[in-house]
Amino acid sequence: MALMPKILIVAGTDPTGGAGIVRDIETASHFSVRTGLAVTSVNVQDDHHVGTKLPMNGDIIRGQMLAALRSDKILAIKVGMTGSPEIVEAICSVLDNFSDIPVILDPVIRASSGGVLADDRTVTVIKEKFLKYCYLVTPNLPELATLTGEKLSENHSRTIEQAKKLLASGSKYVLAKGGHETGEIAIDSLVSSSRTTNFSNARLNATMRGTGCTLSTAIACAIAQGKSLEDAVKTAKNYVYQLLRERTASFSKS
Ligand code: PLP
Repeated sequence: MALMPKILIVAGTDPTGGAGIVRDIETASHFSVRTGLAVTSVNVQDDHHVGTKLPMNGDIIRGQMLAALRSDKILAIKVGMTGSPEIVEAICSVLDNFSDIPVILDPVIRASSGGVLADDRTVTVIKEKFLKYCYLVTPNLPELATLTGEKLSENHSRTIEQAKKLLASGSKYVLAKGGHETGEIAIDSLVSSSRTTNFSNARLNATMRGTGCTLSTAIACAIAQGKSLEDAVKTAKNYVYQLLRERTASFSKS
């Protein structure tokens, strides 16, 4: 156990286990990576709606993150749902002192049920203050549009342009996820200021909640295990693809 790498998860709850912290910890277990945890928001939600959200206050966020970061060597930090501008600011204030740890941000704005998980003020603070702390940000198309202030991308070259625009807010890499595009091939693009790498998979006719949580946590795990970012993205994508394929198979049986 002592030799297993450890990551810190900073994220919100979903009582059904469909998304959020439960998915994050399940994913880390799959990769044999240990987790520390800072809970940002306790939420009442299910597959169909988001109900009450209880965001933690800034001191609770800071306290949880510092306890985890001081107790053990943390090799990557995955941030999911933040929940309020104050929470984003609190996370930034902790990260000021841990700039050597790569931060992977899944910029959770809406649940697939349609419920809002980050309001406009929170999105603004993410964009203006938080992205510069991030090694990688992993937006889907609607998140990319919101973060760049543009309309939803209609083709993949536009998606890459939006990802490049987002880089200007300070993250080192953007992984633009093409899951919401159409076509037989689903393309995700890892974009930096000097290079774009495409990762393509056959598009599967399956959906699953929490794919964004799973993907970003799997990337954090693979980075913690010493993989390069490109290998980490490949590993994480293969894992999500496998989960989706299992769902396709079980749907076709039923
Ligand atoms: N709820 C929480 C707490 C999350 O962290 C996420 C992550 O993206 C979601 C919901 C969204 O998941 P989904 O798109 O599957 O609803």
